[in-house]
Amino acid sequence: MSEHRQGELFPSDEAPWEIDAQATVLAAHVVFSEAPFGPYSYRIPDELSGKIQAGMRVIVPLGKGDREITGYTLGVETLKQYRQNLKPILQCCDDSPLCSPNLLELVRWMSKYYLVPAGQVIEAVVPAGVRAGAGTRNQTLLRPTEKATEDSFVSSLPVKQKQTLVQLILANEPLAPEQLRTLANCSDGVIKKLRETGFIESFTERVMTFESSDSGPQDEKIPIPALTVDQRVALQTIFGALDSQKHSTILLHGVTGSGKTEVYMQAIERTLSFSRQAIVLVPEISLTPQTRSRFQNRFKSVAVLHSNMTGPERHFQWRRISSGDVQVVVGPRSAIFAPVPTLGLVILDEEHETSFKQDTIPRYHARDVAIHRTFLEQVPLVLGSATPSLETYHRAKKGAYQYVSLPRRILNRPMPEVRTIDLRVNRIDANQSSLSKPLLQSMRRVLSEDGQVILLLNRRGFSTRVQCPSCGFVLGCPDCDMPLTFHRDGNKVMCHYCDYTIAAPQHCPKCSFDGIRFSGLGTQRLELEVQASFPDAPMARMDSDTMRKPGSHERTLSDFRAGRTKILLGTQMIAKGLDFPNVLLVGVIQADTTLHFPDFRASEKTFQLITQVAGRTGRGDKAGEVLVQTFSPEHPAILAACQHDFLGFADLELQHREPFEYPPYGSLARIIFRGEAQEQVEQFAEGVVGKARSLVAKHNSKVRILGPSLPPIPKLRGHYRYHAMMITQQPGALHAVLQEIQATTKLPEGILYLIDIDPIDML
Ligand code: ADP
Ligand code: ZN
Repeated sequence: MSEHRQGELFPSDEAPWEIDAQATVLAAHVVFSEAPFGPYSYRIPDELSGKIQAGMRVIVPLGKGDREITGYTLGVETLKQYRQNLKPILQCCDDSPLCSPNLLELVRWMSKYYLVPAGQVIEAVVPAGVRAGAGTRNQTLLRPTEKATEDSFVSSLPVKQKQTLVQLILANEPLAPEQLRTLANCSDGVIKKLRETGFIESFTERVMTFESSDSGPQDEKIPIPALTVDQRVALQTIFGALDSQKHSTILLHGVTGSGKTEVYMQAIERTLSFSRQAIVLVPEISLTPQTRSRFQNRFKSVAVLHSNMTGPERHFQWRRISSGDVQVVVGPRSAIFAPVPTLGLVILDEEHETSFKQDTIPRYHARDVAIHRTFLEQVPLVLGSATPSLETYHRAKKGAYQYVSLPRRILNRPMPEVRTIDLRVNRIDANQSSLSKPLLQSMRRVLSEDGQVILLLNRRGFSTRVQCPSCGFVLGCPDCDMPLTFHRDGNKVMCHYCDYTIAAPQHCPKCSFDGIRFSGLGTQRLELEVQASFPDAPMARMDSDTMRKPGSHERTLSDFRAGRTKILLGTQMIAKGLDFPNVLLVGVIQADTTLHFPDFRASEKTFQLITQVAGRTGRGDKAGEVLVQTFSPEHPAILAACQHDFLGFADLELQHREPFEYPPYGSLARIIFRGEAQEQVEQFAEGVVGKARSLVAKHNSKVRILGPSLPPIPKLRGHYRYHAMMITQQPGALHAVLQEIQATTKLPEGILYLIDIDPIDML
């Protein structure tokens, strides 16, 4: 990570100044996306005054050599002219601001909260394709000048020139030279003459050359259902918030299949009736093609944003959205920055999903950004989930959020029956089957009744461990210090953290023992086993290995929906928001995979995963069944998930977290250090953490600091890592310490550190 330059958002220069009480100067605050980040004040020269607005890019001189560099204007203000030494802005790069005043305010907030320079935040808010003007070209356009309105001048023109000029005036809009040539049937020479004599002037404008062809499904018109009583009550609360024209946050806690999406859609209809637009945030759009088409079928103009859009596509949608042509924007976390002109409502579906947190700089959480954006725009935010995050649930319980619940499934369909299978009793030999007898029996029964089965195993690959039975050596990644996973396709072993790949060894690389063992179950091996047990049942595997090609999710899911496949197995990507009425059985192969992670959220994540995947069954007329294979059936997270007991789980888990001040009771920040020389990284980490400790002591702040210590992944992509955790109930004090660290820490060569505010990833 590059060095941070901290300080006031608008620091005052300590340059010499003279006071001239009358004169004023127009200045712009400019930030850069690389060091030095600014902000710096620049004088707006007369020829650019009235043109430069906050949110535009400018070219300015920087440093001793006056190197020319592009920056972003954060604000414009009139200064008393006592700072004669301000350097001037050289050029303005945009005709209109890249983002609205409210979005800029959001940028400022993110910059402060996440401790990331504003220039870097802007580059996360405004997509690269938009900044590059992807899919556009510079077009020269012609328009008549003032002189062309004077009859006396015009009447003296030669006939052809006069005709041409009249055509341009009649067009009532600027024309490209070739358009005018065709319209007036004239030569280039005629136009040239008119420009030389000052009747026509030319200017350039960027025009879109890209047109999106994707206008969405809009095929089937699904009738709007009569709402259930629960849905109506929930909707009334949201309507109340919309009508108040104020900001509030509403937690819509609805069990799986309770009809949350219908509530969202009717809330959006109300929003549109105020001529406002809505943003719907979803975890990952490619995993939820159903959600996408439900919105596209209901509303006239929907823009669907997704992570693999090309630059021109993204730019096209951005412009469409800014122009107000789009009613509803549906997309992943970055869609919270969609430039809708009059925002009316934001919905964040599956609010507990960790994919709302960005794992690169700026490491923002879309939920918290959404809270801030809806606050700035004074509109409601709806957070929906069957398994709300404890942070959100706690705030709702305390009354900071409104709480509405849909405790029943649509049509009073029962919640599926969930049973655990104790793997300590129903022993599964590592080399035999990963499917216990009861699970096999249920699968057989459901398939014979023409039902469908979903199997969840949260590990991809074939074997998750390659070990020598003779010397005990475990094959690890040389760059990451993590065990390698065997992949049967291609007979290779690879690292899931950095993609390091080698051919699978026959012999132990250490002691040459012939007969190295592959153990630990991955989805590839599960697929093989299921095929062997159910050779006649068509099946599909869904994990990031099989889903690499664009469109593969859609294909796999539509095959399953149509009943062409009977068994769908995969990693957590099959646990999300899918609505297939014929799924009568869900099997969780190993509920413990996420349970024993070194992460204080491990129980919560396990509870969420089981509850969500269980929610994929029993959504039609027939009842569903869920079987959870586990080594710890008595674990509270697993017990609660089996009883569909969110409230019981949440209360117990909150009790566990309170004494440690873990979120939601305290705020967390994590500092990650890395570099190629382990000792140097450790020393640097010790230095920074030591400084943090003394700052805490000096200010007498109540901030607990753990570490520095080795994180669960001590080496990643050839870099040694250390981390430290800071916990507090005084987030302001924590921020002050971190700011001071950033301002005073000099990075040694070869070492990087980054600060993760409200971290989710603890590895
Ligand atoms: P959730 O998002 O809470 O899991 P969904 O919104 O997917 O639930 O709703 C589950 C199913 O119930 C969907 O097929 C939806 O079309 C249907 N549904 C929603 N509301 C109603 C209603 N009031 N009457 C009948 N069916 C409904
Ligand atoms: Zn690796």
